[in-house]
Amino acid sequence: KLITFEGPDGAGKTSALMAVVPLLESKCNQDIIVTREPGGNPIAEKIRNVILDVENTAMDDRTEALLYAAARRQHIVEKIEPALADNKIVICDRFVDSSIAYQGAGRGIGEEAVAQMNLFATNGLAPDLTLYLDVPSEVGLQRIKQNRQDQYDRLDQEKLAFHQKVRQSYLQLAQDNPERIQTIDATADLDTVVAKCLQVIEQRYPD
Ligand code: C5P
Ligand code: MG
Repeated sequence: KLITFEGPDGAGKTSALMAVVPLLESKCNQDIIVTREPGGNPIAEKIRNVILDVENTAMDDRTEALLYAAARRQHIVEKIEPALADNKIVICDRFVDSSIAYQGAGRGIGEEAVAQMNLFATNGLAPDLTLYLDVPSEVGLQRIKQNRQDQYDRLDQEKLAFHQKVRQSYLQLAQDNPERIQTIDATADLDTVVAKCLQVIEQRYPD
């Protein structure tokens, strides 16, 4: 099974995921691997560095979308597919939905176009379950301002409107994919969010 965690900046995806995994491990007998794009493989890592290079203000929006998809492809081939073939549970911090929301909606190059392009990259591999941690943009940005000043400076350049577009896109994706995407209110405290994540996963996979 491929389970993804999604959400806007400051939703607390990584914290929730890190807390959920040991709890899940203690309850199920399948191996779990946790990963995040670019997945720690050298090729995707280099691509990611090109994307996130703060000097790189000249990057075209479609170039950015293509690079994310390219890094994703390499991550899938090197890490995700081999783990799934070994019957492991793969839990991934961000996946295609992030590209649809950030590049498609946030950058405005079109959600449908980005979804199509990612179909080529994934060759159809899609999450079985997605936990969407929803948080209003103001709340997410405020959390990052408090905890990660460096990242905040970069995000601030993107302005509130960008983050609101990202969130709206996630909400739309959740509405369009009610089976796959489960929305979790991430304004709650971490313990509550973690309990909710666990509940959703156990409900979906009772054994
Ligand atoms: O996973 P994390 O939230 O740390 O993401 C790192 C950064 O990459 C975020 O600030 C997000 O804005 C950006 N990002 C993006 N497009 C994606 C995935 C992440 O702009 N498809
Ligand atoms: Mg994170």
